[in-house]
Amino acid sequence: MVQNSVEAAARAMARARHVVVFTGAGVSRESGIATFRDAEEGIWRKYDPMEMATLEGYLRDPAFVWAWYEHRFGIVAGAEPNPGHRAIAELEQLFDSVTVVTQNIDGLHQRAGSTDVIELHGSMHRFACLHREHGGFRLADFAGQEDRPPRCPVCGDLIRPDVVWFGEALPREELDRGQRLSAACDAMLVVGTSGIVFPAAALPLQAIHSGATLIDVNPEPSALSSQATIYLKGRGGDIVPQLVEELRTRREPG
Ligand SMILES: [Zn+2]
Repeated sequence: MVQNSVEAAARAMARARHVVVFTGAGVSRESGIATFRDAEEGIWRKYDPMEMATLEGYLRDPAFVWAWYEHRFGIVAGAEPNPGHRAIAELEQLFDSVTVVTQNIDGLHQRAGSTDVIELHGSMHRFACLHREHGGFRLADFAGQEDRPPRCPVCGDLIRPDVVWFGEALPREELDRGQRLSAACDAMLVVGTSGIVFPAAALPLQAIHSGATLIDVNPEPSALSSQATIYLKGRGGDIVPQLVEELRTRREPG
């Protein structure tokens, strides 16, 4: 029986020491960041988002796809972490270890104060050259260049955002660590993700399989909700702050 209350969720998490927070697009959407699957605004609306998020699409028209990313950089630069991001960061005050495993590429968890973030789909704040032989570049590293997209300062190849495009593998190290922590955590909090895109979606299943308490926060029940210990219906920005508040009263000496 799924108990749909924040109190029940806090009770179920109260004795946990190691917590993994697994997040997806829903968390960023509350900060005004649309996903590939959402309708895009203005002139971008008429283009197929798949064209912007595959290596083939990029190679077909690098300048066009780069311009679209610059448009997105602007949106993210103007966005702020929302109460959901901030409440997730506050969990670090309550448990021995908290790791955020995210499918988002916008860096908002780090800006909200989370100190251990595994980015399964890469980061739009980091750049590599086409075959990833050189990487770790920041946008500022290309400030002096006229080329759009810029060129790799080492080999001269095209620069690409260091994100996982459709059809590409998830970064091995991040996925391994995410799997390890998911199997070892006492509780996993899932926020704003439908949990249907594999291999990332395997992590909550891994946690359940290993006996962890699983709390699923989502405005609409997903495939995962029915398998969760507790499903909380609602947006992360509304629910997670309540959960943190409830956990504080349980974990801090009165
Ligand atoms: Zn290079």
